[in-house]
Amino acid sequence: MYETASTPLTYLPGSGWADKPTDLSPTLEGNQSCDVVVVGAGMGGMMAALRLAEHGKDVVLLEAEICGWGASGRNAGYVTQTLGSDPRILKRFYADRARALYRFAKQSVAFTESVIEDHKIDCDYVRTGNVATATSRRALRKIEKTITPNERVSVGDAEALGIPERFIGGMHIKVGGILNPGKYALGVRDVVRASAVRVFEHSPVTDLRDTGSGVIVATRGGRVHARQAVLANNGFMNQLGIAPRNLSTPAWVTAIETEPVSDEQLDAEGWTSRAPITTNHFVMQSFRTTARGTIVTTSRSLQTARHAQLGKLPRQWVVNDLVRGLHERFPGLTGLSAVRAWGGWIGLTPSNMANVGQLTPNVYYSMACNGHGLPQAPYLGTLLADHLAGEGMHDDLSAVWRETQRFLPGVVYPTTLRLGWTADRITDRLSGVLR
Ligand SMILES: Cc1cc2nc3c(=O)[nH]c(=O)nc-3n(C[C@H](O)[C@H](O)[C@H](O)COP(=O)(O)OP(=O)(O)OC[C@H]3O[C@@H](n4cnc5c(N)ncnc54)[C@H](O)[C@@H]3O)c2cc1C
Repeated sequence: MYETASTPLTYLPGSGWADKPTDLSPTLEGNQSCDVVVVGAGMGGMMAALRLAEHGKDVVLLEAEICGWGASGRNAGYVTQTLGSDPRILKRFYADRARALYRFAKQSVAFTESVIEDHKIDCDYVRTGNVATATSRRALRKIEKTITPNERVSVGDAEALGIPERFIGGMHIKVGGILNPGKYALGVRDVVRASAVRVFEHSPVTDLRDTGSGVIVATRGGRVHARQAVLANNGFMNQLGIAPRNLSTPAWVTAIETEPVSDEQLDAEGWTSRAPITTNHFVMQSFRTTARGTIVTTSRSLQTARHAQLGKLPRQWVVNDLVRGLHERFPGLTGLSAVRAWGGWIGLTPSNMANVGQLTPNVYYSMACNGHGLPQAPYLGTLLADHLAGEGMHDDLSAVWRETQRFLPGVVYPTTLRLGWTADRITDRLSGVLR
């Protein structure tokens, strides 16, 4: 057990980043009709709905819980241009559009920065870039050999990058940064609720049918008749009968936050740059500081499930494992305790990249997750909205657009993730830096 806290550790069913809103939008009761109904109000669904309304469309947004209170308000807050898929897979299977995919990921960061600025969202955004670290000296040598430093990328050992020595080294990609995702998603929620979009919360969609001439969407209390529908419910999408088989596997990602840590302690650990860190494990672990003087660390272990469930709490062994990972890399902080733990559902797609497409003549979906959706989901939602409003297909949308809705089985994930976790721990031991 790694709980040395004087403060007890609280397991939260929602986000650890912000207070749960109490000013709720109505629940759907009775019948509504509109041009486009958007299912799911994470950053993807909210931005799609907002953009459609800006195009003059009459939009209904249906959210199972509270807008922005899913993965969008719970994540680690890294705004990066990370694509998701391994570069070797990209080269092998997506060589024809790898360049377009990288451009899409890069543009999503610029888009996020413009959303924050345009809507004046107070979300503690800091342009830190992020440090992708090596897990072994061999991995660092590989980075040093393959990456040419420039004004946007520094490569070096831990000391040169201002990170603790047990991270060995890596590259500091000076694009994007970190924010408080709770404040960001709830800030966007305020913008959407103040717009022409008709928002319904605590209104989970239970059925969705394309009748050919339109769409009928059912919740427990009502129905929406729309010309078109956009599915943006992420890790929950496979619960709707209309979703393609194997489109995604729901995975639960856990986050923990420590008690406050002083500047002197961080300096003593060698984290002088304070740049957010990710490891290059099969399932990475992320470490960042927060505006409240704490450390948030996430991932390291993912739990897949057949179906995502609202209200899930983090598992204690995963929380302990995250704390172990923190103490291993920051040996001087072993007295530092975790005080909060929470988690959220993401959808893992077989390609490990964003997917968007048309399921039936009137139903579209946008699935931009795999742990990189903070910038990608809202950008994709916006591009899809432009497309539905008749603006054609943006190059960045076509980069991730799926013509076919046939996907490889996702059932390999639980075993793959378990084996990946074990391989990561073996790499850690072999690296010689963790004692
Ligand atoms: C712990 C954690 C750390 C992460 N860290 C990062 C990070 O640092 N950087 C990054 O880029 N990404 C990160 N991610 C991933 C990122 O949060 C997601 O990719 C992104 O938020 C996806 O946005 P979304 O709008 O597609 O989905 P969500 O935010 O999940 O929104 C989907 C919404 O649909 C609703 N819904 C579900 N079913 C229904 C239904 N039947 N009817 C109506 N509504 C429904 C849900 O309640 C939810 O609000 C992390 C995720 C987690 C959980």
